[in-house]
Amino acid sequence: MSKDRRWSDKALGMDRPIDRRDFLNGVAVAVGALGAAGFAGSAAAQASAAWPQDQAGYYPPILTRLRGSHPGSFENAHALRDGDFWETHAAGQDTGERYDLVVVGGGVSGLSAAHFYRAARPDAKILILDNHDDFGGHAKRNEFHLGGKLHLLNGGTLEIDSPRPYSPVADGLIRSLGIDPVALSKSCDQDELYPSLGLTGSVFFDEETFGQDRLVTGAPGRREEATADEWRAFLAKSPLPAKAQADIVRIETGGDDYLPGLTSAQKKDRLSRISYQAFLTDMVKADPMAVAFYQSATKGEWGVGIDAVSALDCWGFGMAGFKGLKLDPGSAPRMGYTPAGYADGGSYTFHFPDGNATIARLLVRNLIPAALPGRDCVDVVGARADYAELDKPGNAVRIRLSSIVVRARNQGDPAASRGVEVAYVRGDKVYTAQARDCVLASWNMMIPYLCPELPDGQKTALHSLVKTPLVYTSVALRDWTAFKRLGIFGVEAPGGYHSYFHLNKPVDIGAVTAEPSPDKPILVHMVRTPCQPGLPEHDQNRAGRAELLGTSFEDFERNIREQLGRTLAGGGFDPARDITAITVNRWPHGYAPEFNPLWEPELPVAEQPNVIGRARFGRITIANSDSGRAAYTDSAINQAHRAVSELLELSGVEAAV
Ligand SMILES: Cc1cc2nc3c(=O)[nH]c(=O)nc-3n(C[C@H](O)[C@H](O)[C@H](O)COP(=O)(O)OP(=O)(O)OC[C@H]3O[C@@H](n4cnc5c(N)ncnc54)[C@H](O)[C@@H]3O)c2cc1C
Repeated sequence: MSKDRRWSDKALGMDRPIDRRDFLNGVAVAVGALGAAGFAGSAAAQASAAWPQDQAGYYPPILTRLRGSHPGSFENAHALRDGDFWETHAAGQDTGERYDLVVVGGGVSGLSAAHFYRAARPDAKILILDNHDDFGGHAKRNEFHLGGKLHLLNGGTLEIDSPRPYSPVADGLIRSLGIDPVALSKSCDQDELYPSLGLTGSVFFDEETFGQDRLVTGAPGRREEATADEWRAFLAKSPLPAKAQADIVRIETGGDDYLPGLTSAQKKDRLSRISYQAFLTDMVKADPMAVAFYQSATKGEWGVGIDAVSALDCWGFGMAGFKGLKLDPGSAPRMGYTPAGYADGGSYTFHFPDGNATIARLLVRNLIPAALPGRDCVDVVGARADYAELDKPGNAVRIRLSSIVVRARNQGDPAASRGVEVAYVRGDKVYTAQARDCVLASWNMMIPYLCPELPDGQKTALHSLVKTPLVYTSVALRDWTAFKRLGIFGVEAPGGYHSYFHLNKPVDIGAVTAEPSPDKPILVHMVRTPCQPGLPEHDQNRAGRAELLGTSFEDFERNIREQLGRTLAGGGFDPARDITAITVNRWPHGYAPEFNPLWEPELPVAEQPNVIGRARFGRITIANSDSGRAAYTDSAINQAHRAVSELLELSGVEAAV
């Protein structure tokens, strides 16, 4: 959006108090209220007593403003990376705690690792450490209470989906939690709600990219059956020049073969070596404005624009322009994980109102029943977790939040390790705990800083697993009459600060029901993927991450208000009046990296960086979706199972499926 702003801060409502609005019955939340200072007693007592999560009222899902990698969660990791950490911290006080397993990272992978370990060793004592003030990793719950009704959104991971069918291990785990995605889709999804109200998708053409601001409704979207006439009618309302309009119609519905004379395999190989942007520009000869129309089309799936995704991967993902090439169905060499999977068929798709945070919460319910009482995957939707139960000294499984691990070290020679000592920071002090086994279910690229003793080749491989930054913004609106007046439920914004946003996806399950009345409050989900077009993918990721960490909440808020204001002005939307709360879920380390044929050689499995990186090191094993090189929940679960199996094997115990 424009740097030369046309809305004053007052018109945008920057002076309106939005943070922490609509508290749970006015009960203040204790997050961050207590520091480490002021605790007396032994290190063990300090490590577990009266921390913020142990206080009544502690309930992070309702916090607003900057969430995801929230302030206070990552600074020590950056100090460790920069080599300053141990200059300012003592080696660590022993808590005296001894566990069978310590898990680093309380995301779906870490929680699954605890689940699998306990399945094989029901009496095991387990400690899970996470640097955030809430569990779940990317599977985070954003909870709002608007007009007396519960509204939920996913702060990160949304769907139980994958390009590939869930493995028996991943499928078995979600079924053991009582989740049947196919049956839930049938009984809970309300996909027809918005269309039944006459609402359609739309595109916002912004002045900076397309010469003038214009919202065009009735977007045909990615429906294969959309006709040339539908596209023409839609594009005729846009500010695009006639040539760009004709090119888009040709891309969407035409049958040209841009690579005549080649076999399907040869065509696929050619397409794997160029970006979708190059395909549109050089092969399709599309007008630059038509190319700009598609620039953000890959951002939701890959977190980068069409300049950084191969044309073959875009074909596999079902994007337009390939009809006339008559490519054989099925995956091919040099395809990324996601498109190759989709080319061969995908898994089911289902989302809980808070996304896969429900999976994380069900895992927590299994591990620590007192923290989230209830029966099934329906009642859990509205259940309020009792965080004070997570780290009780008597628990077989303890989850300790706001605790960043800074070292994981085998005791003795890794080849004959007697166990693992883990050091973590809580408040401003370093504590240590010991365990027979350790799973690092944390972001793989950071593991070399935790385990500097790892072999150099393994550290290089782990460092190379650069994650993709993303922002999922949840905005609470007083009502959605502007959407209704405009006849839209969602907006694609190829040049926008967020590249798309939409009304909360309607679903009826447990305590959550879809909102059919436009004059009632609702949540809007907005997606931004910061990147720098033109650079190799990982350099774009690094640039995006730096941008994210350098953006204040106020800057996010101004951009959110301006984007919604500009886009929805024609429907009478007033950002100062209509926005009641904002949560910016900032993920500088978001999607796990996947193979990108534009910049990487396709390697045999044993030589792939995630496979080299995840090698067992003494009694330390490595999980996380990163170690599967696939940005999906099934990968997080599969990798947890593998990491636990490697540990159990050392003790001659077999992991359960
Ligand atoms: C915005 C977004 C949307 C997504 N949407 C989907 C989707 O719809 N479907 C899907 O299948 N997948 C989706 N994903 C992919 C998602 O990453 C996986 O599905 C899954 O949630 C990853 O789980 P994980 O446990 O491997 O990693 P994470 O969720 O990242 O968990 C790792 C945890 O370890 C913590 N940690 C890191 N270092 C340390 C340390 N030193 N000490 C202590 N803790 C540490 C991290 O902070 C984090 O909490 C999405 C991801 C993002 C970011």
